[in-house]
Amino acid sequence: MKKYFFLSAIALSIISCGGGSKEQAQDATTTENTEATTQETAPATNNDIKLTGNDQMQFDLKEMRVKSGEKVKLTLTHAGIQSKETMGHNFVLLKSGTDVAKFATDAISAKDNDYIPKGTDAVIAHTKTIGGGETTSIEFDAPAPGTYDFICSFPGHYAMMQGKFIVE
Ligand code: ZN
Repeated sequence: MKKYFFLSAIALSIISCGGGSKEQAQDATTTENTEATTQETAPATNNDIKLTGNDQMQFDLKEMRVKSGEKVKLTLTHAGIQSKETMGHNFVLLKSGTDVAKFATDAISAKDNDYIPKGTDAVIAHTKTIGGGETTSIEFDAPAPGTYDFICSFPGHYAMMQGKFIVE
């Protein structure tokens, strides 16, 4: 409807060209401002992400949206009480096209490297692995617009602990 009114205002301005067009032009401007305001209140991206894992092997977010071209700060909290050895969690952001299952399999044998396979080029950013009651945070540049997978690469966790990282 707003678009219709906006177009109408332009049409009327053209039709009435030469007389009284100033008022019509103001109407059009008002409509345009309203649309801009509406866009600003649309669901926003958030580059300050707080992600929580628990003892039930779950992340509280299945999807996160960030704005491209800006820094992302991600804070991972382990809300459980189990140790890093039995219920460790990390956040691993993978490049597009990564075989997530294969990456997770390779990660199993990388315990001494925070479950990040040595020599991998599939990781955009990752936190260290933490246990119950711990918090860790990282900062990194948002990658190019697109949809990426994030997982916890602790052995056996990725199937439950994964989601989409969307850059807009
Ligand atoms: Zn985990």
